Amino acid sequence: MDQLVIGIFGLTGCAGDQLTILNCEDELLLIAEKVTMKSFNMASSRELAGRVEVALVEGSVCQPEDLAMLREIRERSRHLVAFGTCAAFGGMAAMDQRVHPEVLRDTVYGPDGEPFEAIRARPLSSFVKVDFVLPGCPVEKGQLLETLSCLLKGSFPDIACTPVCAECRSRENLCIVLERDEVCCGALTRGGCGARCPSLDVSCAGCRGPVEDAYYAVNADLLKGRGIDREKIRKKMMLFSAPAGMGERLEREFD
Ligand code: SF4
Ligand code: SF4
Repeated sequence: MDQLVIGIFGLTGCAGDQLTILNCEDELLLIAEKVTMKSFNMASSRELAGRVEVALVEGSVCQPEDLAMLREIRERSRHLVAFGTCAAFGGMAAMDQRVHPEVLRDTVYGPDGEPFEAIRARPLSSFVKVDFVLPGCPVEKGQLLETLSCLLKGSFPDIACTPVCAECRSRENLCIVLERDEVCCGALTRGGCGARCPSLDVSCAGCRGPVEDAYYAVNADLLKGRGIDREKIRKKMMLFSAPAGMGERLEREFD
């Protein structure tokens, strides 16, 4: 088979998912034998133009330049992958939907920051067709390699969408909610990390994004019923942003 041509692109984000590719140290040479990578700015300053079979796009859309770039990438790509939680769900940039994006910008960059137009952070699927979602903050190395290996065979992997709670219970951890009355987002969050945080006695912050049909309101009620402060629940659930539309609903529920 000819080499698979992949484009690696970054919108507004921390580049942690791109770094995960470079962290595949033992596998990098094997990957390089089978894959041509274009526009991988973190690894090469050489920009290779032209069409790609698959675009891995990291980051969320937070400014008009992101949107223009995303549309251009979509045009030149056969398949587009939302690469990481920001691209898939908006991520941390979409955290506080009550505050105007320009206020957030000014708070972060201050009066001396270079001026730019800030728009409300949104996932890629708000603007273009997304063919596959690879969640994670950053993505899990194993799932990245599995995805690349499936792409070489012309398919996408079947990544399970079970909640972190299922992985947590299968590791026989004691439940942080039930044992300590603390907020844990494991029931709302996509597994695949092996319940990394609860296994280290730290509650899940939701970094892999929401499971399909995540019951935010039911979970909020359950936590409130255990006497947990509403603002604590709201802040934790909003940290990695709820799915489109749910953020505003959650905000109303907690107001
Ligand atoms: S500790 Fe968190 S992830 Fe584990 S079972 Fe309890 S709620 Fe679920
Ligand atoms: S347990 Fe939750 S916060 Fe921790 S890595 Fe997994 S999804 Fe992310």
